[in-house]
Amino acid sequence: MSSSQIPVAVLGATGSVGQRFISLLDNHPWFKVVALAASDRSVGQKYSQTARWVLDTPMPGYAKDMIVVPANTNDVQAKIVFSALHTEIANELEPQFAKAGSAVCSNASSYRRGEDVPLLLPEINAEHIHLIKHQRKNKNWSGCIVTNPNCTSTGLTIALKALDDAFGVKKVFAVSLQALSGAGYPGVPSLDIMDNVIPNVGNGSEEEKVEWEPCKMLGKLNDNKIDLADIKFSAHTNRVAVIDGHTVCASVELEKSVEPEVAIQALRDYVSPLPARELPSSPRPVIEVRNEADRPQPRLDRLTGKGMTTVVGRLRRDPILDLKFVVLSHNTIRGAAGGSIYNAELLVNEGLL
Ligand code: NAP
Repeated sequence: MSSSQIPVAVLGATGSVGQRFISLLDNHPWFKVVALAASDRSVGQKYSQTARWVLDTPMPGYAKDMIVVPANTNDVQAKIVFSALHTEIANELEPQFAKAGSAVCSNASSYRRGEDVPLLLPEINAEHIHLIKHQRKNKNWSGCIVTNPNCTSTGLTIALKALDDAFGVKKVFAVSLQALSGAGYPGVPSLDIMDNVIPNVGNGSEEEKVEWEPCKMLGKLNDNKIDLADIKFSAHTNRVAVIDGHTVCASVELEKSVEPEVAIQALRDYVSPLPARELPSSPRPVIEVRNEADRPQPRLDRLTGKGMTTVVGRLRRDPILDLKFVVLSHNTIRGAAGGSIYNAELLVNEGLL
């Protein structure tokens, strides 16, 4: 490890999101992976023996011979801990790491609603990171917990931010078509999903997340708390037979009505706030708008901007509300591991580690 590299660890390293972390952290310019943790099933084994690798890029060499350790603060000591744990495990473990001094960058939903916990998409709400100063004081932690949103909220909220800044968003009606990798590994049985669409992802919890999380992310940092954005949401969430890439079809009501071409220009012109602009994982561009009538499509567009760009298409007039469009975001890259790494880069850049 070069003396300038920051030691990081991955909790839940063998899972769907964990594998993305392993892949995206390979040759990261700032971070060096020093520990991989998972459940008792994997502990004590070489990563290459226990992880059933599902990505279409090879397992990075650095990870192959690393011995998987238990997810506790004795076995995992790192300045940054990336959490790809399920909620019920993250509930208990993430505060222990924050207390022990690690900056926990989490994918779990456990603490997203915490008043002093940033729910971050740096390209839209980088300033929310400063909530952790308050969190550290409240909890008496030297570390912290920073979260990224649910993978379905991610692309939708980034597109809404550009529209909200320019025209004000009042109401959103959204229908998701979510990829299988979003259900973890091994995920949904093939006999359930082949030839099928399964509504009600997460038994209602996913819809609640998509209806609430954007309001926090589009809210304003006011002293030590976030004033939630006053936007009304209605969401349907569905699982479809796509491997990676969540699609959302959205209709929006705006404060002031605009021509579709004007809204398309606002999406194309959107730029990140300064602190989030030039980080290693910054999406380039933040939003890409496709002109073709049948794009975005997950298979063709999910790797736009190395999977960090939000892709919008079919933006047109909505006969009931104002506008409607389709938005696509890579769920395990921008919506999970890539997003957490971007959050960690922001922490470093803002001197908050
Ligand atoms: P997953 O594929 O089921 O992976 C779960 C991981 O957690 C595995 O590495 C597993 O290790 C490990 N684990 C299980 N029990 C553990 C324990 N007691 N202690 C330590 N590690 C344990 O799940 P996933 O899809 O990667 O999701 C991980 C988290 O990210 C969830 O909170 C999910 O909601 C969130 N998320 C997922 C996505 C997505 O697109 N998949 C997007 C955003 C957020 P073993 O292999 O050893 O059992």
